[in-house]
Amino acid sequence: MKKTYHGSCHCQSVRFECDIDLQNGTSKCNCSSCSKGRFWKAFVGRDAMRIVAGADNLAEYRFGSKTIAHFFCKTCGVKPFGRGEMEAMGGVFYAVNLVCLDDLTTEELLAAPVDYQDGLHNQWEQTPSETRHL
Ligand SMILES: [Zn+2]
Repeated sequence: MKKTYHGSCHCQSVRFECDIDLQNGTSKCNCSSCSKGRFWKAFVGRDAMRIVAGADNLAEYRFGSKTIAHFFCKTCGVKPFGRGEMEAMGGVFYAVNLVCLDDLTTEELLAAPVDYQDGLHNQWEQTPSETRHL
C-alpha cells in the first residue's frame, strides 16, 4: 500500500515528503557511490516526491555517465535522495534514501523486500555475488 513518508537530512535543513509502496521493493547496489554511502533506496516517480524545505541547501554531485544527480545537504552532508531521468524508469524519477524517512519504522523497513544490483560491473539487472556488506 502506498504511504506518505516524511524525510529529512541530519540537520533538518532539507525536508521532503514522498509516497512509496515499500512492498514494491527497495534496492541496494554495490556501485562505487552506493556502497560508500550505504545507500538503501526506493524509486519513486516525479509526482511522488515533494521537497518541502531546503532545496537551496542541496548540493549536486554527478559522476560516471552523469545521468543521476546525487543530492546532499551542504550543511550536514547527508544524501536524502538522487534524481534521474530514464525512459525505462518512466521519465524523471527519484531514488529516496530510506534511512532518511523519519516516520518509517525499522520494522517496516526490515519487512520491505530488497533487490540487489550489481552496479559495480554495470550489470544492473543482476544480483552481485556478495551482498552482506551493502
Ligand atoms: Zn542537513
